[in-house]
This record gives sequence, structure tokens and C-alpha cells, in this order.
Amino acid sequence: MEIKTSITGFPRIGEQRELKKALESFWTGKISLSELEKTSHELKIRHWNYQKESGIDLISSNDFSWYDNMLDTVIMLNAIPERFRSIADETERYFTMARGNKDCVAMEMTKWFNTNYHYIVPELSSKDEYSLNADKILDEYNEAKEIGIKTKINIVGPVTFLALSKRVDETGGTYQLFDKVLPIYKELIRQISELDDNVYVQFDEPVFVKDTSSNELNLLKKAYSELTKCADNVKIIVATYFEHSNEATNILIDTPIWGIGLDFIYGKQNLNGIETLKDKKLIAGVVDGRNIWVNNFEKSIALLNKISEKVNKENIIVSSSCSLLHVPYSLKYEDNLDDDLKTWLSFAMEKLDEVNLISKLFHGVKLCEGDKQKAIANKDVIEKKGVSLKIHNNAVQSRLKNLVKKERTDKFEDRIKAQKAVLKYPELAATTIGSFPQTPEIRKLRRDYKNNNISKEFYETGIKEYIDNCIAFQEEIGLDVLVHGEPERNDMVEYFGEMLDGFGFTKNGWVQSYGSRCVKPPVIYGDISRPEPMTVKWITYAQSKTEKIVKGMLTGPVTILNWSFVRDDLPRSVVSEQIAVALSDEVTDLQNAGIKIIQIDEAAFKEGYPLRKDNIPDYEEWAVRSFKIVVSPAKMETQIHTHMCYSEFNDIIKTIEAMDADVISIETARSGNELLKVFKAIGYKQEVGPGVYDIHSPRVPGIDEIVKQINALLEVLPQKQLWINPDCGLKTRKWEEVKPSLKNMAFAVKQVRKDLKERR
Ligand code: GLN
Ligand code: ZN
Repeated sequence: MEIKTSITGFPRIGEQRELKKALESFWTGKISLSELEKTSHELKIRHWNYQKESGIDLISSNDFSWYDNMLDTVIMLNAIPERFRSIADETERYFTMARGNKDCVAMEMTKWFNTNYHYIVPELSSKDEYSLNADKILDEYNEAKEIGIKTKINIVGPVTFLALSKRVDETGGTYQLFDKVLPIYKELIRQISELDDNVYVQFDEPVFVKDTSSNELNLLKKAYSELTKCADNVKIIVATYFEHSNEATNILIDTPIWGIGLDFIYGKQNLNGIETLKDKKLIAGVVDGRNIWVNNFEKSIALLNKISEKVNKENIIVSSSCSLLHVPYSLKYEDNLDDDLKTWLSFAMEKLDEVNLISKLFHGVKLCEGDKQKAIANKDVIEKKGVSLKIHNNAVQSRLKNLVKKERTDKFEDRIKAQKAVLKYPELAATTIGSFPQTPEIRKLRRDYKNNNISKEFYETGIKEYIDNCIAFQEEIGLDVLVHGEPERNDMVEYFGEMLDGFGFTKNGWVQSYGSRCVKPPVIYGDISRPEPMTVKWITYAQSKTEKIVKGMLTGPVTILNWSFVRDDLPRSVVSEQIAVALSDEVTDLQNAGIKIIQIDEAAFKEGYPLRKDNIPDYEEWAVRSFKIVVSPAKMETQIHTHMCYSEFNDIIKTIEAMDADVISIETARSGNELLKVFKAIGYKQEVGPGVYDIHSPRVPGIDEIVKQINALLEVLPQKQLWINPDCGLKTRKWEEVKPSLKNMAFAVKQVRKDLKERR
């Protein structure tokens, strides 16, 4: 068989989230292990068949997982952290590693490159001895073979595996364990070689799309020089994605691997690194694996033609740019979507067809009537999309072009004086990040309203009641700046997306985020505008209930962008600015309605950072510009807050400073006052609210503990610069946890203030 098409990997959660449901039922004891296995088997078979029927030649196995592929690789290496080793049952142990139990904390989880998928971080130690457990890999291959499919086996490559792991013994980095890990991979290749006459193995090495060191490149060379020696009948592909990997390509060219998988969508520069591929196969990712727009066949063919100026055409295999894990399954359930919008979209299933058809067009395979029609339809859709008034809104574009005021013009020093005169908050002002517990009742209220089961009046009465209680509670415990609690918001991005023009929402566009958890990102398809105010009603209602100041609460443009599927016919910077302009109108309206503090949450600001250093200045420039546009209407005495949910600011502190928010609240509780030092080091002038307790755990922090934390903060920054708040919003917590925690926080603040006064 001649291989012309490939898919880097396929989603596993199931088009109706069958795996999610099975997993969660298994965890709660509602179904047995064999039932979970049965569902898993059915899903794998279905997904393999889909790919086969769509004409995909290289179909993956081992892309399936009950939780995560990095965790599966940990099992493959028998790199089980010590605290789980006493769990005898393998399944129980696997899920405990992922999710923890009352005796063992779960393994850490973190973002897979710049996607919203999270992987389990392996914990390695020089004391451990690794050994091969290839069961899952071999079994899945045979499972597919039973239905007549010889798969390409997907495995996380050794260098990437080590790069994304952490050392839990004190000394040294993870690469020092390379010589322990590589022999296991070699043995794996030997076992794989016995599966069949010829077996394809795809090693994922995406770490090479980052700026890599010569040490990493040496390891790459060593790994693939040796792995290729282990068996003649195992054809090795090394795949990278999300950016270019020219340095790695340059190394891999000199190893006898069979093929290289490169991303030509997010790694355009890959075009410059493929001249010397010689007779290696090039698995060319030209169908976007992480966005949901219909492929432009004409452009893809042009791109492939360009590639074939450098690589022998026979050696080019058409593929997705990365695993389709990052896109939803299928459009077939989207019966509520705008008709035009639906024609512009392509999910995993539709992308299989695209890969197949593009390959046929490129390789000059004779098309059947159906394919001919599809090719014509594609051209038609692209043309119509290009001029659709649902996408292109002249008013939005010209407003952006003619934007005069793009930032606040007053200096922070003057602003803060004016603000303090009006706002009169004390030093160490106590506040929260915005949301209060999302109770089952409040979720039901929103759901009932959305489904038209209750009247608008009934809904609004319920929301108001929640706000009343929130305000009363905050007054009672004596917080200084209050919030309305965000009961009307299901999600901090979706809420705004639903109110803005240019956003669409799918019914079944689920994407795995981690384990059984899926998210359904909004779709930004057109120019963005705000038909009417989005938050003014609820914020002003809350403000009317108290003499204290209530913060207005908006989600920032970069966060909205990073948690959505974004149109690809405009630069992200432009989309971000469009959102910013829409939000700036909200700032104007809030301000005119008498709101004196407005917080713009940029929870995902850091997530959007480019993988390559070269691209960072550009990102920072437009991200900051967008934020500044949002707050540009703010008067001198209107105080602008922002919130970011993480604790690593060292490399972005100058950018944070450039955003020029009057107050920033950040996550600090778990890192003591370490993080704050960088604010001091650069002479950060604006005010800072470092979280004094961790909201990710149900634990109620004691007064003394918070006092201690505040005192630690005071060692770094002066009291006049500090605010006191929790690490993040409280929506995931229960009232029983939030009430005593905030009470203790408020009490602790008072005590510290008193101590400070006495000491003066
Ligand atoms: N204002 C939001 C909240 O409190 C911020 C959430 C976040 O940063 N993730 O929920
Ligand atoms: Zn947060």
C-alpha cells in the first residue's frame, strides 16, 4: 500500500462524550471495569473505522487513553511515584495517580504546550529503576489488527517525555535520566517489531518547537540514532507540532528515521528546513488540527506545491497539523447553528475528509463524482465566507481604524491620588476576586431561564436575591471593596461571548481539557461588536444595595481570545483589539452609571505566550495594547484592577507593568512572598493584591495563618501598596468554606492593621 494520508492522532472522548460518562460512572462505582473496557473498545473501533472509511492510510493507535498519554507513558516506563506503589490494583493505581485519594495527592497537571489540554507531569527520581510495560501499546495494536487495521503506534518521544517531567529527588534535571529511559524505549521497539512485518511508530517530540539547547539536540540525535538500530522492520516517524522545529529537523535528517511530521499551519518556518530531507517521508500537516475552520483547498494545494519544490512529491504524506484531540468531533449534531456558520466549520470527522481529498487533489488521483462535488463546494464556501456580511462588519473595522483614544493618558502617580481621594479605602484594603459560590440552585436558575422554563422576572428575582446575600455578607464581615458575586455567569468567557456579536456557540463542540473534563469553547467567527451593555444592570443593582464600593467585573480581551476558537482570516491581534473596543464601551457605561472600580480579568494572559522567544515581543505588544484600549475611557479617579491566576511573573513582569492597571491581584498563597519579590525588584509602583489563601482547596485558613501571610507580604512591599484578597474567584467553593475563610481573612486584616498602628 502506498501511504498518502495520515492523522497525527484522533480524539478519544467520544462524539457524545461516551468516555467521559463511562469514566465518571466507573469512578463512582456505577459501572464495572469490564463495562468501562467495553465502552473503550467500542470507541477505539469506531474511531479507527471512521479514519479507515475516510481514506486515512496512517491511523493511530495508543492515542486512546483513560486519562492522559503522558500518564500512560509513565506506566509504560514503570515510573510509578513511590506514594502509589502500594496500590496493588493497576486500574485503581492509574486513576489514583491522576486524581489522588485521601492518602495520596494526585500527580501535578499542567498545560500541554499552548493548548488547553492538560497532561499529568511525571515525577522522576534517580533512585528509581525503570522497566518496560508495553501491554497497552501492544494490545491496542492487536485490537485494531483484529478489524483489519494496521495502525501507526503513537508514543511520546523520550526527549519530550523527559522535558515535561520533573525530578522529585533533590538533585539535577530530568535529562540526566536519559540513559535510564532510552534502554526502555529500545526494548519497546524490539517488542513492537514482533507485532508485524512492518510497523509504523510515531514518536511525538513537540518539545523541539520551543527554543532548544544543544544538549537537547544531542539527546535527540542519540535517541533516534539508537532507536532506529533496534529493528529493521519498525519505521520511525518523529513528529512535532504547534510551531516550527527547524533545529530538530536539521538533526533528524542525519538519522535513519523513516519520516518527519511537521506542522505547516502554526510552523510556517518549517518550509525553510526541509531541503535536505532526501528520501525521508514528510508527513505534512496542512489541515489545522487545533482550529475548526473549513480548509481552503486551493491554499493547501498551493502550500503543498511549495513544499514539493523542496521535497520529492512521492514522499509527501498529507496530514493534520497536530492531533485532532484539540478539536470537537463532528458537525452532525449541530442542528442549532447558523446555516452559514455551519458551512465554515470543520471538526475532527470533517477534517479526515479534508486530508483525504487534499491528498487526492495534490497527488493527482482521479476523483470520483462525490469528491469532485466536494472540491467544488469547498471553493464555493470559501468564496462566500470571504464576503459574508455575517463576518465582515464595516462599522467595526472603521471604528478600529479610526480609534483615537487608545490608552489612559494620566500618570499612575496622579491617578492614584485622585482615586484615593474619592474611594477612601484603607491601607491593606480587603476584597475578593469576583465570583462567589456557584450553588446548585443558582445553576438551576440559569438553566431554567435558558430553557424558557421560568420567566425573566422569576430569573431576575433569583439573581437579585443572590446578589443581596452576597453584599450583605461582605458588609457583615467588613470587606472594603465589594463584588456582586457573578451569579449570572456560567463561565467568564461564555457569558461575554453570548452577549457580543461575532460569536457563535456549538451544541456539541466539546474538547478534552483533562481526564474526563471537557470544555466547549465559543467560536469567534466575525467582526465583534457589543449590541448593548453586558454587565451594567447587575453591577449597578449591587451598588445600589450598599454604601461601600462595588467593583465592576469584566473578562479581558486576551482571555476571551485564548479560551475561544478564533477566526483565522484575521491576525489574532486584530480580533483582540475588536474585543477590546467592545469592552471599552462597557467600561464607559459602567463609569457613567457611577461604578468607581472596574476589574478586567486576564486569567489567560500568560497562557497565550508564544512557544518561541522570537514571537514574544509581538504578542506582548498587542496584548498590552488591547488591555489599554479596554480601559482607555477610564477617568483619572476610576480605578482599574486586573486579575491573573498564577504565580510566575518573573519573565513577564515588565509587561504586567506596562499594562498599567492601578491594582493587580495575583495568586501567591502557595508560594509565600517569593513571587512578590520580583515586583519589588523592578520598582513596581502600582498596587498589588497578592492572594493570602489558596482557593483551590476546601480547607479553611485560620486567622493566624493569614496574619502570618500578610506579615510576610509586608516584608516585601509597603502597606500602602498592598491589597488583601484570596488567590482567585470563589465560584468553585462552597458557602460553608467561603464564609469562615473570608471572615478569617477580614479579621486577620484588622488585626494586622491594629498591630501596625501600635508599632508606629
Ligand atoms: N472574576 C473571576 C472570578 O472571580 C476571575 C476568575 C479567574 O480569574 N479565573 O471568578
Ligand atoms: Zn484567578
